[in-house]
Amino acid sequence: MTGEEEALAAAEVVRSGWLTQGPKVAEFERAVAGYCGTEHAVAVANCTVALQLSMVVLGVGPGDEVICPSMSFIATANAIVHTGATPVFADVDPGTYNLDPEAAEAAITSRTKVIMPVHQIGMPADLDRFNEIGKKHGVKILEDAACAIGSRYKGHIIGGHSEMACFSLHPRKIITTGDGGLITTNNAAYADRLRLLRQHGMSIPDTVRHGARKVMLESYTEVGYNYRLTDVQAAIGIEQLKRLDWIVERRRAIAARYTAALSGHAWLIPPFEPEYATSNFQSYAVQLADDAPISRNDLMQWMLDQDIATRRGVMLSHLEPAFAGRPVPNDLSNSEAASAKSIILPLYPQMTEHDLGKVLSTLNAVTRSREAAR
Ligand SMILES: *Cc1c(COP(=O)(O)O)cnc(C)c1O
Repeated sequence: MTGEEEALAAAEVVRSGWLTQGPKVAEFERAVAGYCGTEHAVAVANCTVALQLSMVVLGVGPGDEVICPSMSFIATANAIVHTGATPVFADVDPGTYNLDPEAAEAAITSRTKVIMPVHQIGMPADLDRFNEIGKKHGVKILEDAACAIGSRYKGHIIGGHSEMACFSLHPRKIITTGDGGLITTNNAAYADRLRLLRQHGMSIPDTVRHGARKVMLESYTEVGYNYRLTDVQAAIGIEQLKRLDWIVERRRAIAARYTAALSGHAWLIPPFEPEYATSNFQSYAVQLADDAPISRNDLMQWMLDQDIATRRGVMLSHLEPAFAGRPVPNDLSNSEAASAKSIILPLYPQMTEHDLGKVLSTLNAVTRSREAAR
C-alpha cells in the first residue's frame, strides 16, 4: 500500500541530488532499529542478499551446512547456496508450518554452522526453542523474517531475538520499497561488517567522506559486494514504516474474522497461532482436510471463476528443478502434505466486509454444489 506520502518523499530525494546509500538510508535504518527495538538495522538491496551477507558475517562458506525448511520461498535456500554452503532441509511442524525445532536439531552434523528458521508467511517460529538448541550445539540462529516485519514473539517485535533477522521489502510483503532488505541485530561487530560488505568492502562510507573537512582516502579491506539500498527506496520505506502498525492491526482484524467464520468448517482448517506468536498475517493460508470434497487446484479454479484470486500455499524448494539432484537426507512428509493442501485466501488492509463475505460464501457454495451433485 503506497500513497501520496511515498510519492512526495521519493520526489524530494530525487530533487536533493543524493540518490543512494546516503542520509535517507541512515534515517530509515534508525527508524527500523527503533521500531524493532534493536541496536542496529542495516539496509540492503533485498532480503535474499540480506540472508547471504548475514551468513557470510557468521562465517558460513563452502563445506558448511545450514539447516532450513524446504517449505519456504526458494530464496531461503538460494541464499545459502550463494554462500557456497549446503542447504539441509528439515521438516516443518504440521500445526504452524514453521521449521520443527526437533527436526532441525536431529539434522545437525559436525558441519552445521547455522539454523535458519523462517517465520512462515508472518507467523513467528518458536525462537526460544531454537536459541536453546543453538546454544546446546554451538550453532548460530539466523531468522529468515522476510514476511515477519511487525510480527511479535512473546510480545516483542521480531528483530532482536537471535544473531540477526532479515526482512524483505518486496511489494508482496507487509511494507515495501519496491525492492529492499533489512538486517536487524544487537551485535555492533556484525552491523559494522554488514555495512562494509554491502558497499564493496570500502573502509570509509561515502556519508563520512563527503562530510569530512580533511581529505580522506578509502581502502578496500576485503572483497565485498554492491548490495546497497537507494535513498529513493529508503525515503519510501520511512513513510511505509509509519503505516506498519495500522497495516498489521487491519490484517489481524480480517484474519480474526476469517478464523471465526471458518472454525468448525467441515473441510477447511484455519491457521493455528501458538500462544507465543502474534502474526502480522502477511498471508492467510487455510488447509484442505483429507476428506475435502474438492481438490486444492479445483478450489483455486472455483474461486477464480467468481473473480477471487487465491494462491497456492508455500512452495517446496526440494521439488523445484533448481534443487533436483541434491540429496534429501531428512523426512519432509509434513512439508509435502501441508504444501499440497494449502491455499492462501485474499487478505489486504482495504478489504471490506462485503469482500470478505463474498470469499466466505464462495467457499461455502462448494459444499452445497457437491451435496447437490450427489
Ligand atoms: C520474499 C522472501 C524472501 C526473499 O525476499 P526478497 O526481498 O525478494 O529477496 C526470502 N525468504 C522468504 C521466506 C520470503 O518470503
